[in-house]
Formats: sequence, structure tokens, C-alpha cells
Amino acid sequence: MVSAADLPLIALRDLRKTYGGGEQPVVEVLRGLSLDIHAGEFVAIVGASGSGKSTLMHILGCLDRPTSGQYLFAGQDVAGFDADRLAWLRREAFGFVFQGYHLIASETARENVEVPAVYAGLDESERSARASALLERLGLGDRQHNRPRQLSGGQQQRVSIARALVNGGRIILADEPTGALDSRSGAEVMRLLAELAEAGHTIILITHDHRVAAQARRVIEIRDGLIVADSGVPAGQGKALEEEAAQARFPDAPPAGSAAGAWRAELKEAARSAWRGMNMNRGRTGLTLLGIVIGVASVIAMLAIGEGARQKVATQMGSMGATIMYMGSRPPPTGGPAGMVTEEDLAAIASLPEVARVMPVIGDPISVRRGNMERNLYVFAGTEAMPRMHHWPLAAGRFFSAREDSDLAPLVVLGHKAREHFFPGGGDPIGRHLLIGTAPFEVIGVMAERGAESGSQDYDDMVFIPYRAGRARVYRAQTQPDYTVIEAAGAAQVLAAEQAIRRVLLERHGREDFGIGNAAAKLQAEMETREAMTMMLGLIAAVSLVVGGIGVMNVMLMTVRERTREIGIRMATGARQRDILRQFLTESVLLTVAGGLLGVAAGLVAGGLMLLWDVPVIFSLTAMLGAFACAVVTGLLFGYLPARQAARLDPVVALAGE
Ligand code: ADP
Ligand code: MG
Repeated sequence: MVSAADLPLIALRDLRKTYGGGEQPVVEVLRGLSLDIHAGEFVAIVGASGSGKSTLMHILGCLDRPTSGQYLFAGQDVAGFDADRLAWLRREAFGFVFQGYHLIASETARENVEVPAVYAGLDESERSARASALLERLGLGDRQHNRPRQLSGGQQQRVSIARALVNGGRIILADEPTGALDSRSGAEVMRLLAELAEAGHTIILITHDHRVAAQARRVIEIRDGLIVADSGVPAGQGKALEEEAAQARFPDAPPAGSAAGAWRAELKEAARSAWRGMNMNRGRTGLTLLGIVIGVASVIAMLAIGEGARQKVATQMGSMGATIMYMGSRPPPTGGPAGMVTEEDLAAIASLPEVARVMPVIGDPISVRRGNMERNLYVFAGTEAMPRMHHWPLAAGRFFSAREDSDLAPLVVLGHKAREHFFPGGGDPIGRHLLIGTAPFEVIGVMAERGAESGSQDYDDMVFIPYRAGRARVYRAQTQPDYTVIEAAGAAQVLAAEQAIRRVLLERHGREDFGIGNAAAKLQAEMETREAMTMMLGLIAAVSLVVGGIGVMNVMLMTVRERTREIGIRMATGARQRDILRQFLTESVLLTVAGGLLGVAAGLVAGGLMLLWDVPVIFSLTAMLGAFACAVVTGLLFGYLPARQAARLDPVVALAGE
């Protein structure tokens, strides 16, 4: 068993990396590198451009894997590490400093420094305190809230050094850190690296410049993917290095599962950066939102209109009764005179088991008088069954009975408006008399107000008298009812009742000199049409929601492509695949949640406008919640693909992306 102190922190054995293969020519960039680096060393790897330095650094930093050979980190073969474990190494062990700084453009200096700490699960206050202290130490105390483009190259590089240090930065991997800087800023950065080396950090510096390399304690030269020179560990450093190495032992595995608090912090972070991303592309975000808003709003408005129409028919059905049919005499289709509906016919119909009630009706506008008040009113002569058949209660007094009907009793019940006309000022009409035609009738009741209703007749403006009294005293020329209202025994028996009535009458009359109107069936059919229409409208609206979702996907795919480099930076600083997935999912869900909320509001406004035009509209909470939930699910579904695409990016490829 070797002790930790004997182990080099980093050991490369015959490391090879080839690119290409298949269609492309095979390029061997690293051709069998073997190298030990101990904790606490300050190593410069120097070589001409194209010699494979960056490739080597990507492998050292676990951003890329070698094609063959071994990379032992603290004695463990990195080849056996999964993506999460590699992310953990990048987060906890390494800190990268790149030639092009690789800062996230939309974040401030301090936020950039905080990124690795976010993925390490540090809480917000500690994170920002650490970042501030580091920036302060690197002379950027007053630049914390500047974005990268408001900083000079030297300042940006110092920000990236602070970022490399925020999780400890035990091993700093610097790839041409001075390459893009003027000599003064370059010297500044080198001084910083030397200081860090002094403080015990392991520094691996990559450069093509021998003068820069000379500032390290150990210089390794590579050419064409092979080590051609190695100055070796300086004498007298052995002891110190062993001590460093003893401290450099890393835990075997990442801590199992982040704490609940860290999870929430990460989500908050994702929401924040999502918000920033949306805000940066306001025009595009707005258009995408519009798609979702229209989708959600139309689902809500369409369903509200459909439900309004359905309810309206339902009320009509309720007031007329879903079981009501109308029957009257009519000339037969084959020609000849109309038939005569007799009392015996009615009795035969009433005795059918499918029929609950039969009411013959005569009705016409007739002159009605009280004192010197006269009015032409529709006088409805029906039976005692009228209130029940029409589901119509009385407001005062009573309705006449079957007995009073057969006794030809001269009684009258007033509609709401008729009562107001003849008895203005609220006087009690019960017991008073009206002259209908030429016959006096006694008022015994007032019907409840029915209100506005479709149909030509205004029921509130009628008066109701018994059928037989009407025939004897008012409609004297009339030998048969104008029409007969028939109520089936149940909603399910309407059709059976219609057939039975037809059969009985055909038998009695010998020919079809009558007609039966089945309003219930008609309304039923209308109701079904309306329902089908609601479904259709809802479906169209749902399709528009899906179209909105596709818009979200489109924008998210674009976002992922635009921010490939940011994804690479996040991965290099320790983001796991699921962190990236979460960030982009959060972004698309945030988009659809916002769109959903606006859509609900827009749907309510659109429905409200319809109400102004007297279109019946009934909002349903279920539809609203449903549409909102659909929008959010759409965001998850259509956002998943782009988010997964982002999460699966290869860190090296992403970093090189634009
Ligand atoms: P250095 O950093 O020393 O300038 P690199 O490691 O960046 O060199 O590149 C070494 C060689 O590998 C170069 O010739 C480069 O063209 C090649 N190379 C780097 N990345 C790829 C890649 N993804 N595919 C093909 N060739 C690559
Ligand atoms: Mg390079």
C-alpha cells in the first residue's frame, strides 16, 4: 500500500489523444505523454502553437478524455469517473484561467466569480462574501457590479482568476493566461500566479512564451505531442511538496445528494439567470410569450363562449321541459282536410304509459278589461297542469284545479306584466274581476316573473284561464285545441311517447291528419351541436397552444445555440449535466408560466368584451387552471429537448463554441 504522500497529485501514463477518424483524417495530437505533477508545484508547460498544450490542459482539467493511456488523479484512474464525478472534480479541485477569459457576458464580475460556488451548493451570503473578498484581494473591489464588457482585458483575467479560486482552487490550470494581455497586465497576472503558488496552490501554466514559462519553478517543454524537456522538481522542495501532497487528499466521492437548501438555491439561481436571459432578448421573448398568451387566452375564451351557449340552450330546455312535445291537427301530406283532435283523442293519449300529462291549449290575443283599462292580451286557455309542465311557480294566490276546469269555473291567473298593467301600485288583485272578451273572470293568482326569454310570445304578458271555461265563455267558435302540449313520462321516453301517440292517433283517425313537434328532441340536437362546437373550438385553441409550445422550443433551441459558450463555461466551472438541464428547463417553464398568467388575464378580458356584446359567456375555473397547467406542461415538454441538448454538450466543444 502506497501512502498518499508518495503519490503524485497528477500522474499521466503514456497518454494519447487523437482527433478525427471515420471521414476525417486521423490527427494524433498527444503521442504518449508520461508526466508526474506533485501538489504545490508551479509548472509551466511550454511549446509552439499547435503542439498540443491546450489539448493536454483539457484532459488535465477533466474537460476531455484521452484516447488511450492513463490519467491518475490522486492515485485514482479518472477513466472510471462518471460525468457527475468529473464535474465534481472540476468544481472542487480545479480552477481554470483561459486566454479568452471565458466570462459569462450577462453576469456581473461578482456573479461570474460566484458561478462555481453556486454549483458547489454554497449559500448566497457566503458565496457573495467570498466573491467580494477575492475581488477585493485582486484589486477589483470597485468593479464587482461591472459586466465583462465594461472591464479591461487585465481586469477580466483577474475576475477569471478570482473565479478559479472561489472553491479553493487547489489546482489552477491556466492556458495562455497572458496571451491576450498587454505586457503590464500580463506581468500583473504572472505575479498573481506566483503569489498563489507561494500560498500553496498547484499551478499548471500553459504558454508558448519561454520568458513567461521561465517564471515557473519547473518548465516542461512539449513538441508535437511529446515531452522533449523537463527541468524537474527543483532541489530542496521535496519536503514541502510531500507535506502539500499529504493535504491534497481528496474524498473518494462527491458528497451524496445536495441538501434541500442547496437545491432551492440552485433553482433560484436558475430562475435568476433565466430571467436575465429573457430580459436580454426582450423582443424575442415577447413574441414567444404572445404565442402562449394567445393559446391560453383562446382556450379560456372559447370554452367560456361554448359553455355560455350550452347553458343558454340548457335553460331553454329547463323552462320548456326536456320532455315536452307539441301536437296539433294538420292537413295530411297526401292532401285533404286537417283532422280534428277530440276530447276522446286526448283521453286516449293521456292513458298511454309513456305519457305523463296532456294539456290542450287555446290561445289568442283578446281584449281584456278592468274598469276603463283595456288591453289586447294573449289569453292562454290551458289545464291545471300548466305550472308543472312549464316549471313555473306562482308568486301569489293559486292556480285553478282540474275540478274547476271541468266545472267551467270563470277563474283567471295573471302573468307578472299583466298584473302590473291592471293592478299598478301593488294593489292586491286576488278576488278582483277582469272582463275577458265579454265574460267576467275572477283573479285567483299571479305567476312568478319569468323574465326575458327567447321566443316570440312574452309569457309574462299573458293571462291564464281554464281550458273548458275558455272554450265555453271566450273562444266559443273553437271546437278543438289550437295545439296540445304533451309531457312524456321521462326524458328517455320522449321518442317512445311520440311513436305511441302517432300510433294511437293513426288508429283513431285512419290517416295522418295531425303533426307532432318534438321540441325536446330539437333542443337535444341543438345542445349536442353546441357541445360539438365547444369541443371543436377548444381543440383549435389547444392546437394554438401547441403552436405556442413549438415557438417556445424554437426559441429555446436558439438560446442554447447562442449560449453554447456560456454552457461550456458553466461546465468547466463544475456544473453537472443536471444543473444545465435544470437551468434551461427553468427558463422555458418561466416563459410559459408568464405566458400562462398573461393568457388567463387576456382570456378573461376577451370574455368580458363578449359579455358587452351580449354573447353569453361562462368562465370555468377548471378551464383556466387546465389551460394554465397545459401551458406549463407545454413549457416542460417543449423545453426538455433543447435543455437536454444543452446538458449533453461536450464541455470542450461548448467552450470552443460561439
Ligand atoms: P496548442 O494549444 O498547443 O496550440 P492544441 O492542443 O490546441 O494546440 O491543438 C493541437 C493540435 O490538435 C492542432 O494541430 C489542432 O489543429 C488539433 N486539434 C485540436 N482540437 C481538435 C479537434 N477538435 N479536432 C481536430 N483537431 C484538433
Ligand atoms: Mg492552445
